[in-house]
Amino acid sequence: MGSNEQQPTRIAIVGGGIGGLFCALAIHHHCSAAGVHVQVDVFEQASQYKEIGAGVGIGINAARLFHQMDLGDKLNGIAGHRTGVWITFRRFDTSEDIVTVPVNDSDKIRQAPCARTELLDLLKAAVEVRGAATLHTKKQCRSVEVRQDYSTSAEADIVIGCDGIHSAIRNQFVVDKPVFSGQIAYRGVIPISALSSWPFPSYSVAWLAKHRHLLVFPISRNEQLNIVAFVTKPENEIADVKESWTSICDRQEVFDDFAGFDKTAQEVLGLMPEQPSKWRLNDRQPLHRWHYMNGKVILLGDSAHAMLPHLGAGAGQSMEDGWLLGRALSERLSGSTNPHFASLESTAQLYQTVRLPRAQKTQATSRAAGNTYELQTEDMLDKSFEECIPMIAERTRERMKWVWEEDLDAAYVKARDGQGLASKVEGHGGAAGGGVVAGKGMETVTQPRNDSRTPKPSTRLTGYASSRRSRQPPSTRRRGELADRFEGTLSYRHVDVQNAEQVDSVIAEIAAEHSRLDGLIAAAGIQYVKPALEYPPDRIQHVSSSARQMIKYKSPGAMVLVGSMSGLNANKGFTSSVYNSSKAAVIQLGRNLAMEWGKVIDTGGGKRAIRVNVLCPGNIITPMVLKNFEDDPGLRKIWEENNVSSTNSY
Ligand SMILES: Cc1cc2nc3c(=O)[nH]c(=O)nc-3n(C[C@H](O)[C@H](O)[C@H](O)COP(=O)(O)OP(=O)(O)OC[C@H]3O[C@@H](n4cnc5c(N)ncnc54)[C@H](O)[C@@H]3O)c2cc1C
Repeated sequence: MGSNEQQPTRIAIVGGGIGGLFCALAIHHHCSAAGVHVQVDVFEQASQYKEIGAGVGIGINAARLFHQMDLGDKLNGIAGHRTGVWITFRRFDTSEDIVTVPVNDSDKIRQAPCARTELLDLLKAAVEVRGAATLHTKKQCRSVEVRQDYSTSAEADIVIGCDGIHSAIRNQFVVDKPVFSGQIAYRGVIPISALSSWPFPSYSVAWLAKHRHLLVFPISRNEQLNIVAFVTKPENEIADVKESWTSICDRQEVFDDFAGFDKTAQEVLGLMPEQPSKWRLNDRQPLHRWHYMNGKVILLGDSAHAMLPHLGAGAGQSMEDGWLLGRALSERLSGSTNPHFASLESTAQLYQTVRLPRAQKTQATSRAAGNTYELQTEDMLDKSFEECIPMIAERTRERMKWVWEEDLDAAYVKARDGQGLASKVEGHGGAAGGGVVAGKGMETVTQPRNDSRTPKPSTRLTGYASSRRSRQPPSTRRRGELADRFEGTLSYRHVDVQNAEQVDSVIAEIAAEHSRLDGLIAAAGIQYVKPALEYPPDRIQHVSSSARQMIKYKSPGAMVLVGSMSGLNANKGFTSSVYNSSKAAVIQLGRNLAMEWGKVIDTGGGKRAIRVNVLCPGNIITPMVLKNFEDDPGLRKIWEENNVSSTNSY
């Protein structure tokens, strides 16, 4: 990782949306201040840096960052200003006030609801004027790979995945599992001058009804009105609706869904474009890790924490990411001796430590806010509209306080200078390769530098145990004992090995976390004392999943398949032909895999093996065997009488 004039650190930002461009500016801001020279390239898949014509609310927390980068006046210049009110919540049928939330709007640093197009233009112009990054278009990143050869056209040391909600970079490391939130949204923008009268010129209005709410806020110097109309729908009614800015519908659908709303709301809807956009609102499980490949690949914005839009805070959160990632990278690259900057991985971890909990709290609060505005929280479900009204007032007044008032830099400094965080970073680094961003029309390689601070390979063991039966991990004490004994750490994941998708996802996550996978013990098996025809098919998904990860991360690892002596002998009195045959199959599987994977890992310096062995224990009294004894009272006697040593081994 170099920072001298000859070899500036090369940073590839994938995705030139709000998060990507803001991140480029923040890196430039912090690195310039620290005297660090970096080369930043932004790769955008679209043919131009362009946004759809909708609005985006920029809260005070994000506006503050614009001002810190001397872009605050420009932001205020494109925003729709507020005059003491943030939002007013109204009854859907009469427009009567439910609660009106004030905001301090007299300060220079203030709310900035704006048009996405204008915001993106502002960011792009600032990147260009400041020379913060080289902007590329029509460059679609498909994946990041570990590579040994660098004969490609472009290279980078760090890749920042700002490629949005459907991030290809994130999807390489974790399985994206969107879950329908229960709601869809129609969107459109109309000129305020087209309305016969508009009583709320400078603030947001939300009309609330059961299962529906209509949100509008002024943008573009209060000349335009941004409209987002939310409806709760059963999933089977919206099978064809996509999670996409570009999917559209007929305006009549909006009219039908918002029938019964007050005349002011109806007039707004009547001016919607003939084909407004229609968006399926998916929710996502929080992501536990935002950096991969020893910190060379880092996620930011929606790729790390896509959230429902009900707080209007997603873009602001991506800016907070960019601000702190830029700050952390500048400290790392300027040679700070703080242990958090000892490696790229620990630097990325510091960024994650500060940002992840706050972003995930925003995700969770957005979800809760949506349910409140739709009157769909659990305690509202059996209540009438009238009964819900006071509950809404109480829950919305202070909702945004913690989002807006956070002192981001103070939180960062506290984490950076606090005790104990550095030791949380696992010492698994040192994978020999670099990474490559391969794309349509472009390739960007991440390449290791001759850097004494690059983490060294570690001999510590990180173990993962899993169980289908129990979601509860073994006790902390027990895990601690095992971890101490093997001088490593032991984590626990709940997984059903019969669920192929789950197995794939968990193993890919574990491998991605450490950029390697060294071993697998396949001991998940149960004994079926059943006739052959009733026997369920066995699966070896965990074995092939692990092999794929070992090949991917070039880790010549080892696998132990737990077979049984029952795979070699017929146990007298034990009518388990299928179990025994399956164990024989495990033994044969081990032989075949050992042959097949003998030279499967291309380390660059020759082919290496994934070693596969099968362990065939004799009779051990396990809970499963005790159950067999219980089910068949004569069995124990037969076993013991016929055992050569007349005993079982415990
Ligand atoms: C209905 C709705 C309303 C919202 N309203 C608000 C609001 O009022 N306030 C707010 O703060 N947030 C709002 N959000 C959230 C906000 O839009 C996002 O959080 C924000 O845009 C995230 O920025 P990003 O840069 O991470 O992703 P994006 O803005 O999605 O940008 C991603 C960029 O990456 C590019 N890209 C994607 N894949 C690739 C690839 N493989 N290679 C290269 N380029 C790629 C895309 O073309 C795009 O330019 C809303 C979201 C929704 C769905």
